[in-house]
Amino acid sequence: MKRSIVTQESMSVDTRQVAERIFVNRSLSLENIKFFGFDMDYTLAVYKSPAYEELQFSLTIDKLIEQGYPEELKGIKYDPTFPVRGLLFDKLYGNLLKVDAYGNILSCIHGYEFVYGEELRQYYPNKFVQFEKQPRFGILNTLFSLPEIYILATVVDLFDNKLTDFVKQKDGVRKGDVFISYKSIGQDVRMAMDSLHKSATGSLKPKTMEDPDKYIAKDPRIPKLLYRIKKAGRKTFLVTNSGYKYTKQVMTYLCDIPEGPEPGVPKVQWKDLFDLIVVDAKKPLFFEEGTALRQVDEKTGSLRIGHYTGKHEKGHVYSGGNSEVFSEILGAEGKDILYVGDHIFGDILKSKKQQGWRTYLVVPELVQELDVWTEKRDMFDRIKDLQTELSEKYKDLDSNTTDKIDITHIRKNIKEVVHEMEMCYGQLGSLFRSGSRQTFFASQSLRFADLYATSCVNLLYYPFSYLFRAPSQLMPHESTVEHEKTTKRYGPIENARRGVTYDGNEPPSKTPCVENHECDESEEEDEALTN
Ligand SMILES: [Mg+2]
Repeated sequence: MKRSIVTQESMSVDTRQVAERIFVNRSLSLENIKFFGFDMDYTLAVYKSPAYEELQFSLTIDKLIEQGYPEELKGIKYDPTFPVRGLLFDKLYGNLLKVDAYGNILSCIHGYEFVYGEELRQYYPNKFVQFEKQPRFGILNTLFSLPEIYILATVVDLFDNKLTDFVKQKDGVRKGDVFISYKSIGQDVRMAMDSLHKSATGSLKPKTMEDPDKYIAKDPRIPKLLYRIKKAGRKTFLVTNSGYKYTKQVMTYLCDIPEGPEPGVPKVQWKDLFDLIVVDAKKPLFFEEGTALRQVDEKTGSLRIGHYTGKHEKGHVYSGGNSEVFSEILGAEGKDILYVGDHIFGDILKSKKQQGWRTYLVVPELVQELDVWTEKRDMFDRIKDLQTELSEKYKDLDSNTTDKIDITHIRKNIKEVVHEMEMCYGQLGSLFRSGSRQTFFASQSLRFADLYATSCVNLLYYPFSYLFRAPSQLMPHESTVEHEKTTKRYGPIENARRGVTYDGNEPPSKTPCVENHECDESEEEDEALTN
């Protein structure tokens, strides 16, 4: 079957409501998925924003004040328009950085102030950081990172600008003999947040369950989705880092729908909607060596002693383990599993890289990202127009040109439009882009998430036999050269492909691409069907 390569813009053939669509990075046939796995926090249990972030913010501030941080923190309110996921915290200089996939800096903020130009170059001479596997940089890429980002900015701003007896230095602040490094601020904030999340002693979970209506979105489509997966003859599982007690409370709340999962179907218990349940999974460790797999005593919530090595008994709940033991118990191979989660590293990258699971990333921010994409289309057009204007400036010029072309106003205009566009998303801009450049978060999503959507319930809007097809990913040499021009012979260099001499005439019939770059994509489709 032959199809021409089409542009990404013309690939929009899904007629579902935009917010209900699932977007595809790599083709995947639902027909071949035998096991649908789910994370709980921010995947099945969607926490309400900004109420949940405000709760974490105020509890963490209380904790920091308890540890000796200034009382002035107390009156500060959480600002939901400030943070965006995927930032780095540079512990050396106390800056928050938005970077692209390669570490090029897209934005830098110190406290609440943006850092530009010469000041930015003093911190980072090449506007670049080597951040992966570098302890100097903390990666803030989960939804739980949103309040953490705002706390870091708030504490840095307080010491730098509000507490006048502290003097700012490059790597911290000083008051007499006392030096507080930005690194120690980063560590203190991290520890305060970690203590909040602890199953046994943390205050976040009990506070959440004191008023679940305030903090958790109760969506009847959650039990409906799990019920429908099982009705379609597939298996479901839950792998969560939360402990048994909290998981039971949250899932009972989510599945407590008086009318049942479907009309005419009686109410179901949350545990009956899963074939296998693992709590305290300790992802990402779960996808590597993991921990001991133990059975949970559901009466007391405590763990039974010893490693569990028996067969899976339906209705039992397990704690810990690792993905290999888990797959064995389930009788599943990596490609049979679609795992749905919101954590790009712990849920998506690790399950894909270590176990070859198929992956579905939940990105609640997509609702707002799509709003801006559709409502502010004129800004994207203005950037395109400015890029065309730039090309026009260099039109018909070659290496013989000696005059310097003045493009100052075009560069200034591009900067202004990009900034205006960023502000439509929030103070730190889009999760996925900065103007026409993609963020580190976007590159990780593209690489490791086969599918992504605003919510896991979007699966309800597709049949379980659906083939998700990825749009063509065009390279710059394809996206900037029109099809009709590619039949023209451009010169000797492009014809020097190893072993092939293309002279502009019809290529031999056995080459994979025939007739004006129409490519046979059936191989890709076959792959999706057999994966
Ligand atoms: Mg989660």
